[in-house]
Amino acid sequence: MSQKINRLKGMYDVTPEQVWVWQKLEKIVTSVLNQYGYQEIRFPILEKTALFHSAIGEVTDVVEKEMFTFETRKGDSVSMRPEGTASTVRAVLQNGLIFNDPQKLWYNCPMFRYEKPQKGRNRQFSQVGVEVFGFDGPDVDAELLLMTHKMWQQLGIENVRLELNTLGTAACRTAYRDVLISYFEQHNDVLDEEAKRRLHSNPLRILDSKNPKMQAMIDNAPLIEDYLSDASKAHFKGLCDILDACGLAYEINPKLVRGLDYYTHNVFEWITDDLGAQGTICAGGRYDRLVEMQGGKPTPATGFAMGVDRLVELILDHNLWEVGPQSQVFLISDKMVSKHQVAQSAEMIRDAVPGLNMMVNMGQGSFKSQFKKADKSGAKFAIILGEEELDKQLYSIKALQDRSFGQKQMSFDELVTFLNSELTV
Ligand code: ATP
Ligand code: MG
Repeated sequence: MSQKINRLKGMYDVTPEQVWVWQKLEKIVTSVLNQYGYQEIRFPILEKTALFHSAIGEVTDVVEKEMFTFETRKGDSVSMRPEGTASTVRAVLQNGLIFNDPQKLWYNCPMFRYEKPQKGRNRQFSQVGVEVFGFDGPDVDAELLLMTHKMWQQLGIENVRLELNTLGTAACRTAYRDVLISYFEQHNDVLDEEAKRRLHSNPLRILDSKNPKMQAMIDNAPLIEDYLSDASKAHFKGLCDILDACGLAYEINPKLVRGLDYYTHNVFEWITDDLGAQGTICAGGRYDRLVEMQGGKPTPATGFAMGVDRLVELILDHNLWEVGPQSQVFLISDKMVSKHQVAQSAEMIRDAVPGLNMMVNMGQGSFKSQFKKADKSGAKFAIILGEEELDKQLYSIKALQDRSFGQKQMSFDELVTFLNSELTV
């Protein structure tokens, strides 16, 4: 008995009705990245599991419970990438890319996390990420924020706000960490199991907890700003000053932390209220310690990752874009015209008008049924190849939406001129 096999939970297909949104979004985002001189890097889907354990950290949601990890036939543990920073750092070190040179890099690829699927949270999801190596900021940190803002503008996304905070240098973080641990210890009775487990390994992450029972205690926790050195404050002020000068609005959220140990100085999130609970569309910050922790020489670094699935959802849910490209021209033919004559004419037109999006009727059919298909395709014009037209080497062209245009006969050269001026993009 045959059995229908469906896709895995938390995975999705992008159907032709939606794929144009992905394509257009990728085109816009890539063009902005080019505008700022960033270069693409590609890395494998599979890496050694140890890479993520060491670069992301053992005591994190991703490594503790979200990775797709399995053994190869030889018994080596490998994992599907859950994010891009670890692989980018490995790749720049392995390829000697940051030996003497700074790098401004981006990637756009699917990531895999075994999470509880819900709106805006999938098990395969795409991220556009940017990682910059060799600049200690804050000018480059500001550039990243201005660049993401430019992306929202060009994508037509308006309802989005920037939240910003600083974690200071490693020394500031360590001082703050100790204060946080003793504060949480005083409130041991309110801590949930996860918080207790993270108390000594990753106390900053507790501030990120979504557990409502801990919110009041978290709200009263000491703030990092009281433990920042003058140099840390100056770095953050430098960033805010550039944003102010460029008129980019932000809110300082003293509770915003990135749980990972390697984060230093500024951290940020772009958040929208238009997506419900999963409103963070882009998150990032400076991670000056990671390259050294991964065996490279100390190299300042900063970056972000944006959730492409959430952006697509935002665009579709709120109809931010008009319906995407459809076929522009539909070629129909009389049944007396042979299929090889149709194919030859279609090829001649495509060669002469390379930007044209033209669909050719396949199989037989009355004019009526062919016109129906042409209408359904959304095409603006139908080109009609009839016996009479073929004899006179003429093409009939009919507007499918604009009634005032009617139907016209043209020579091949006239048709080419018409299509080139009317339709190519
Ligand atoms: P959260 O706290 O929501 O789990 P995170 O800290 O795990 O977020 P990051 O690792 O910073 O998220 O990923 C950067 C961005 O990638 C997120 O802001 C979000 O837009 C997107 N993202 C992360 N996980 C998913 C997922 N499972 N499905 C869809 N998008 C995701
Ligand atoms: Mg997560």
